[in-house]
Amino acid sequence: KSSNPNETEFYQAVEEVLSSINQYLEINDKYQKNSIVERLVEPERQVIFRVPWLDDLGNVQVNRGFRIEFSSSLGPFKGGLRFHPSVNQSVVKFLGFEQVLKNALTGLPLGGGKGGADFNPKDKSDHEIMRFCQSYMTELFRHIGANTDVPAGDIGVGAREIGYLFGQYKRITNQFSGVLTGKPESLNGSSLRTEATGYGVAYFLSAMLDAKGDSLTGKRCLVSGAGNVALYLMKKLDEYDAVILSCSDSKGTLYSKNGLDVKLVMHLKSERGAELRDYLNEHKDAEFTPVNQYPSDGHQVWRYEADIALPCATQNEITKDDAKALVENRCLTVCEGANMPTTPEAMKIFKEHNVYLGPSKAANAGGVATSQFEMAQNASMQKWQSEQVDEKLQQVMKSIFNTISVTAKQYSNEHDLVLGANIAGFERVADAMLKQGVV
Ligand code: NDP
Repeated sequence: KSSNPNETEFYQAVEEVLSSINQYLEINDKYQKNSIVERLVEPERQVIFRVPWLDDLGNVQVNRGFRIEFSSSLGPFKGGLRFHPSVNQSVVKFLGFEQVLKNALTGLPLGGGKGGADFNPKDKSDHEIMRFCQSYMTELFRHIGANTDVPAGDIGVGAREIGYLFGQYKRITNQFSGVLTGKPESLNGSSLRTEATGYGVAYFLSAMLDAKGDSLTGKRCLVSGAGNVALYLMKKLDEYDAVILSCSDSKGTLYSKNGLDVKLVMHLKSERGAELRDYLNEHKDAEFTPVNQYPSDGHQVWRYEADIALPCATQNEITKDDAKALVENRCLTVCEGANMPTTPEAMKIFKEHNVYLGPSKAANAGGVATSQFEMAQNASMQKWQSEQVDEKLQQVMKSIFNTISVTAKQYSNEHDLVLGANIAGFERVADAMLKQGVV
């Protein structure tokens, strides 16, 4: 820890994995002999850079950019870019570390990385966002490439930002290549990439329930977030006839005991200037709780009676008391759409109460899997129909579920999906590292 002070989130992510696979490591001494863990937690390369840009008033603004190239053992570095004021080295490293294991679980040839900047796109004009993206890429371009490192989106980075980043990359390098995924479809993006992470979470959850002889029909779901992952998850859950009771954003939580009108929520979040609170204009029976009225020990969104909790906003959004409230309300299935949304204290409570938990590195891997489909389409100069992409996405999510439940059964019980995901992900990367010698 002395070489990486204050990297709280990164330590949390590493500790979660290592404490879970501890016994497995003890019986597999080839990994210890070859210092696989020590090598795995040290990123191959970390780039930190200045991003200067001009705001609309002509003032110079400066942000800090990151790209952590964590592991290329299984393929080119692959993982999203996050633009959010909370981005720092620890956050990007935790995301990068998780990404390595997540990408391994897909079974696809993908290494792991992550990047971003402490830039807040929210209060910026379109032109400011374009200038920021251009400046960010002016440094990033020298580190990435279609066979080297292929960034995508994450919080604050969607098709618009990827389009601006792509434009600048092309301008500097004179190459129209698959160097970024999540591109607008008109720039050779894959169909369904926008929907893929949310849809993938729904497919994974469906497999979880199926394994217990159950289904999503009529299940009451609490969803947090109202961004890319949450919205498309809600859309798919709606198609599965589940009932979505809540969603949330950085301003507050929306709840309806009769179930939310997902189309209206999607409309409000895509409309410039509209807010979740505006939902109440059309549905008087709904409730909106602003952030300043949340319980002091957690988040309003987890304080309702339901069957399934689906965190899809950000890290550490289920606190110890949120977990207690979910368990007390008999909400005993959790499927993580966001990366590391459950605090270690909450995880302990879930374990004690046998909560059936689909970990993010498995459940939200549909986005990166579809990014790999985009890379394959770009490399072969082909365009796949959305039905084809959807079919492949469903196959990947089912295969991830099968892999981790079989692994879980081998080392504990088949419903311990956290253990199954950690061991299966680690093993694939570790074995590839062993075969490549000391690198
Ligand atoms: P978006 O930016 O599209 O949406 C994030 C949502 O969560 C927004 O509704 C936002 O509120 C809310 N939110 C974000 N940060 C906070 C916070 N600190 N407090 C309260 N609310 C917050 O991001 P994504 O949907 O893409 O990502 C959500 C999660 O899913 C992240 O953990 C990300 O790493 C993970 N993920 C995303 C993938 C993807 O393909 N996009 C792939 C795999 C994982 P508001 O609307 O007010 O901004």
